[in-house]
Amino acid sequence: MKTTHNFNAGPCVLPKEAVKAGIEALQDFNNSGMSVIEISHRSKDWEAVMNECRALWKELLQIPDDYEILFLGGGASMQFCMVPMNLLEKKAAYLDTGVWAKKALKEAKAFGEVVTVASSAESTYNFVPKEYTIPVDADYFHITTNNTIYGTEIHTDMDSPVLLVADMSSDIMSRPVDVSKYAIIYGGAQKNVGPAGVTFVIIRKDILGRVSRHIPSMLDYRIHIEGESMYNTPPVFPIFIMTQTLKWLKNLGGLKAIQKINREKAGLLYAEIDRNPLFRGTAAKEDRSLMNICFVMAQGHESLEAEFLDFAKSRGMVGIKGHRSVGGFRASVYNACPKESVQALVDCMREFEKIHK
Ligand SMILES: *Cc1c(COP(=O)(O)O)cnc(C)c1O
Repeated sequence: MKTTHNFNAGPCVLPKEAVKAGIEALQDFNNSGMSVIEISHRSKDWEAVMNECRALWKELLQIPDDYEILFLGGGASMQFCMVPMNLLEKKAAYLDTGVWAKKALKEAKAFGEVVTVASSAESTYNFVPKEYTIPVDADYFHITTNNTIYGTEIHTDMDSPVLLVADMSSDIMSRPVDVSKYAIIYGGAQKNVGPAGVTFVIIRKDILGRVSRHIPSMLDYRIHIEGESMYNTPPVFPIFIMTQTLKWLKNLGGLKAIQKINREKAGLLYAEIDRNPLFRGTAAKEDRSLMNICFVMAQGHESLEAEFLDFAKSRGMVGIKGHRSVGGFRASVYNACPKESVQALVDCMREFEKIHK
């Protein structure tokens, strides 16, 4: 197989072990003579996978007992409407830190009053606002902990006077999290915990049942809790790969261990961006994401952008072109991205510098 360094933003690189286990289970699951996608989702064998997956989530994130973990369809984008539908009675507060935050906010407007407590839109979302007041009469406060497109991240678990809801699509399982500070944590699996097709929702059970509207069954968290994520047919194969990905993470030493590795990887690349006169980081230093590292050609070297992309491509780098809304470069260095890939990108930037001296 060709050697590539995969910096895709999502779907993205997954642990080799998880992919391999997937291939095996696709051919013959548990010596059943059937593929994992051919068995009944009501079978004992499948129930065991669901239970293992839930147990891994609980163990790795130390999820308290009054929370439920759900595996749903629809992507993180479905949660943009499911959250307000289930929680918003009068007013909700949102922190506008990027495209995804903005999309979440827009959906909520259909269900009640929405207050934007702060926004960094005017500076192309290159920092996370810190001075703002959360209205105490809001039903909840929504944040996006990692802004995938702009490379900014909220690195700590904040205190909120109202229910705190977090889209953690792109930094879930990258560090230990104090789950008890959140009412809901949700995200698409395809950045750090598996393939596209499954959405995780960690939810404190006592926050439900407070809104007066009718909620369609498929959008009602209570129905999915009651059905243990099998009210309807769950996305079985994505859940299987997610389980394997979490097993890999556990074997690696869990969230403290991966946090250390993530700091090392991001540190390596940011150090090169700061050192190399041809490049410049775009996110405010204190808010730099450990998952998505955004940079551009430094002032005076802008014309080299396309050339660097080609140069990097010829050395096996994949997916480093910045999001179409911001341009430049973005290296996504999620949990499963090996340190060797980050080193290869750093080497590539150094070589490019030599050529252009
Ligand atoms: C990718 C992403 C989404 C969208 O996820 P889908 O599963 O495609 O709906 C939402 N929020 C954040 C922070 C993301 O990175």
